[in-house]
Amino acid sequence: MLTRAASPVAVVAAERGQAKQKKPLVRRLVQDRSQPVRHAVQFAFVALNVWLALEFLLWARYFESGGRTRYFERPAGVDGWLPIAGLMNLKYFLVTHQVPAIHPAAMVLAAVFLISSLLLKKTFCSWLCPVGTVSEYLWKLGRKLFRRNFTVPRWLDIPLRSLKYILMAFFIYIVVSLSVEALNDFLVAPFGIIADVKMLNFFREIGITGLAVLGSLVVLSVFIQNFWCRFLCPYGALMGLVSTLSPVRIRRDAQACIDCGKCSKACPSSLPIDRLVQIRSAECTSCMECVAVCPAENALQLALPPRRVPSEAGTAAARWRNRSLQPQLVAAVLALVFSG
Ligand code: SF4
Ligand code: SF4
Repeated sequence: MLTRAASPVAVVAAERGQAKQKKPLVRRLVQDRSQPVRHAVQFAFVALNVWLALEFLLWARYFESGGRTRYFERPAGVDGWLPIAGLMNLKYFLVTHQVPAIHPAAMVLAAVFLISSLLLKKTFCSWLCPVGTVSEYLWKLGRKLFRRNFTVPRWLDIPLRSLKYILMAFFIYIVVSLSVEALNDFLVAPFGIIADVKMLNFFREIGITGLAVLGSLVVLSVFIQNFWCRFLCPYGALMGLVSTLSPVRIRRDAQACIDCGKCSKACPSSLPIDRLVQIRSAECTSCMECVAVCPAENALQLALPPRRVPSEAGTAAARWRNRSLQPQLVAAVLALVFSG
């Protein structure tokens, strides 16, 4: 109970507390499955990439050995590791309407990932990309070992985050400024043709400098959530920008929300979810970690815009009927887009 002697600050704080307590919690009826489903998709993509890498290595060794080892087909999916070639080929295709001769799968995969960002926000980063998966497990390992991750102070976070956009702008500038003839000349030159083998050799013949850079990224990723993705990845920056056009977003229903703040605490991108009604940010990866921890029924979802319902039927359930995307549907759409 408040007494006359209580200070104004204490009164406001107490009133706020009482106001918050008044909001009833309607617990979720069905347990959220987003994280097991997402982790299953992540592991499937890591496994796919390991298989692609092994088959590609065996294909390369066949030629390096002068045909003495067993021949394996070159897996086209390996072109997914050539994002710049993918964007170059995409421009070539859009301008000439001809499928490029070198690394055509890079173009198809770049288009697929851009479409997935348009449909389902930046799911590429938190559901598909093996680098994103490794980053996630590194910060989770760090949290297990040290019981916490470290947050970069805001004055440093914003300039560091802009690095990935600067890198993205640099690569986009190259692709946009080169003529299609110059792009074609680059891709059919010896370096362009064996860009995939050069990538393989980077890892096979990695030097001290490369190891030091990779080691530093691994260590930093243990301490800081998604260090590479958050600050440095230009491909993720591009997916993030495209994802701002997506109608699907994390959306909070202010009436169902009990303002517990668990969603914001769980967000690896440090987004203030509990203060917003929708997450427009290019930093949101649709990981659904926030949805997984939310205790209130229909308070938080990955969804299309809510329905306009008449006030007598204005329950949260009515607003989100057929608008909320279940994780199984996200996985199915990604599988469909990818296989298509
Ligand atoms: S807002 Fe939710 S879905 Fe987006 S990054 Fe944060 S936790 Fe993941
Ligand atoms: S987790 Fe976030 S959206 Fe869910 S009830 Fe708490 S504050 Fe509201």
